[in-house]
Amino acid sequence: MAGEFELIARYFSSLGGAEQVDLGVGDDCAILALRPGERLATSVDTAVVDVHFPADAFPEDIAYRSVACALSDLAAMGARPLGFTLAITLPEADEFWLHSCSEGLAAIVREHCVPLVGGDTTRGALSLSVQVMGALPSDRALLRSGACPGDQLCVSGTVGDAAAALAFLNELWQPDPAAAEFLYQRFYRPSPRLELGQALLGSATAAIDISDGLLADAGHIAAASGVRLEIDPAALPISAALSNCDDESRRLAWQLAGGDDYELLFTLPDVADLPTGCTVIGHVTDGEGVHCPIPVSGESGYQHFA
Ligand code: ADP
Ligand code: MG
Repeated sequence: MAGEFELIARYFSSLGGAEQVDLGVGDDCAILALRPGERLATSVDTAVVDVHFPADAFPEDIAYRSVACALSDLAAMGARPLGFTLAITLPEADEFWLHSCSEGLAAIVREHCVPLVGGDTTRGALSLSVQVMGALPSDRALLRSGACPGDQLCVSGTVGDAAAALAFLNELWQPDPAAAEFLYQRFYRPSPRLELGQALLGSATAAIDISDGLLADAGHIAAASGVRLEIDPAALPISAALSNCDDESRRLAWQLAGGDDYELLFTLPDVADLPTGCTVIGHVTDGEGVHCPIPVSGESGYQHFA
């Protein structure tokens, strides 16, 4: 049975190459280089077995998704990713599991050129904590707090797919096989919108990534900005896979209250160009809260201690 250091060397030490990495896995800290005029943005996210993913989920998917969700926070701030660390807790040193896990890590590292620069490996109930580090210009960031009355409310990609995937994985509905595959990928392989976030740095007034649900996350922008957000449900972008479900009220509930899509929700002055792949779904007015003419349950999003 391999020890901790052997496991680290075998599964976690080869994913750390990048120009900005002065020192990666192997010492007491990693050292990352910032460019002149930049500051560090950082965030951490934990995924726990039976809370964030089922025990029998594929290790590649668990690893990929954990890193993708953490990177999404950098996207929401407009940060350029520098690297991440991984604190992993495992019930046992299952080499098959670890090998698959490192394949999932390698996939997300490759896709976003974001290196794994350090971490921690411990024994216990399965969990993965991913800390991401990114670079922001010293004078700019996408915050939740800058939305202004008159701005448009926009979203990237399509919404509701991850919630529909969960419903299908829990056997609550059955999409056709192509739609099922697409939705599965949308849940387990979310695409952090890193390029979009950086592109929005100069134009968006506020931004957040959709992790809790569109209405819940819109509520965070509304509260932080001291404005009211009006959402037009008919304008919500929908994937072909989701339109597979002919129950409209269910579809709308997934789109409005389902989380886990990791798309960006942002506000744009109405003179700004809408980036490709994004949709205007509403607008900002004076007042407070989120107004959507359709009542849905679960709009406050998932809360661990509620
Ligand atoms: P320390 O005791 O100094 O905290 P560790 O023994 O925990 O160091 O880890 C040794 C090296 O391996 C460190 O550079 C650490 O960042 C790295 N490391 C440990 N676990 C992981 C992991 N799961 N992924 C990436 N790097 C890891
Ligand atoms: Mg340690």
